[in-house]
Amino acid sequence: MANNITFTMIKPEAVANGLSGKIIDAMIEGGFKVKAMKLKKLSKEEAGEFYAVHKERPFYGELVDYMSSGPIVAAVLEKDNAVADFRALIGATDPAEAAEGTIRARYATSKAENAVHGSDSDENAQIEVDFHFSADEII
Ligand code: UDP
Ligand code: MG
Repeated sequence: MANNITFTMIKPEAVANGLSGKIIDAMIEGGFKVKAMKLKKLSKEEAGEFYAVHKERPFYGELVDYMSSGPIVAAVLEKDNAVADFRALIGATDPAEAAEGTIRARYATSKAENAVHGSDSDENAQIEVDFHFSADEII
């Protein structure tokens, strides 16, 4: 599996708060190249399927409601060691624990509304890219 691609979403609260430009800039400044990008509103069904791995977790219902509450920016990003380097760039799930200067430390609202998604493995990156993009949408 390629190790140079990851998938991200700028989450609804960050898009609604007008932070998309600043967050995309931080991704590019962090060395990532945008291979595909779109503004998209997820249905509850799509959000539920995307986060199906968390189905048994207590926050699943709220997560699905939140992720379908408004438009997101979905993107495919390219860089050597993309998955690990992007997780480092965005910081810990809870912005209170995210390292200074990370995207979540700078722009997230809370542990639930934490501004961005980043894939957690090469395998999941590919699954998530395929979930949101067709081959002809990727440069
Ligand atoms: N989440 C939450 N409460 C938690 C843990 C996670 O609301 O206690 C939400 C949060 O939006 C997070 C998403 O569920 O980004 C997926 O959780 P995961 O553990 O995969 O964190 P991530 O990989 O996004 O850092
Ligand atoms: Mg995760």
